[in-house]
Amino acid sequence: MIKENIAQVRENIKKACKTAGRKPEDVTLISVSKTKPAAMLKEAYEAGSRDFGENKVQEIMDKYPQLPTDIRWHMIGHLQRNKVKYIIDKVSLIHSVDSLRLAEEISSQANKKQVHANILVEVNIAQEESKFGTSREEAVALVECISKLPHISVKGLMTIAPFVTNPEDNRRYFRQIRELSVDIMEKNIDNVTMSILSMGMTGDYMVAIEEGATMVRVGTGIFGERNT
Ligand SMILES: *Cc1c(COP(=O)(O)O)cnc(C)c1O
Repeated sequence: MIKENIAQVRENIKKACKTAGRKPEDVTLISVSKTKPAAMLKEAYEAGSRDFGENKVQEIMDKYPQLPTDIRWHMIGHLQRNKVKYIIDKVSLIHSVDSLRLAEEISSQANKKQVHANILVEVNIAQEESKFGTSREEAVALVECISKLPHISVKGLMTIAPFVTNPEDNRRYFRQIRELSVDIMEKNIDNVTMSILSMGMTGDYMVAIEEGATMVRVGTGIFGERNT
């Protein structure tokens, strides 16, 4: 089932790329495996998935030793500063940086473990009360501050769009993130690229790709519904 689901998602990614005149290789599919057991991740791995997204530090720590070492782990959930030390040398990208204090802790822990941390700045583009993320207005200043820290680099932006039944309703938000990334890029800030746009989930990843997503985070569409 997982294998078929991944094939279907990949097919949809190709379609969206075709619509947008983009190359499928330029879009990374992240299999969002939160709440799912290691056995299911192994199935996805066997179907070719190498990028896995988790939203809890504890789950990354549990699953990390059970799975092959060529997996790229993505921290996509809210990250508490006191837990950075547990995952800093395990994850290849932290998508959810929304404060300078968190970035400072990441920088400091990266120094301690002698690694370089790649991060995205999370933007709460629809200004939803329930969501983490910096505002569009604050994003530029935050990127500028983080760019001055050692052992950490901003690689782009991430957003969690509102939960909607019609994915078209999120198109404007994806477009706004893309525009914001262009604005930031044009500032030519040292140590900052805007090469990654992490946006789009099961319900709206095709629209996100049409609007420029380079990473899509798909959970339900690969592993099925989560038991909460
Ligand atoms: C759970 C989650 C996803 C995946 O959501 P689905 O709708 O199941 O695809 C993507 N991004 C983040 C940040 C998540 O927490």
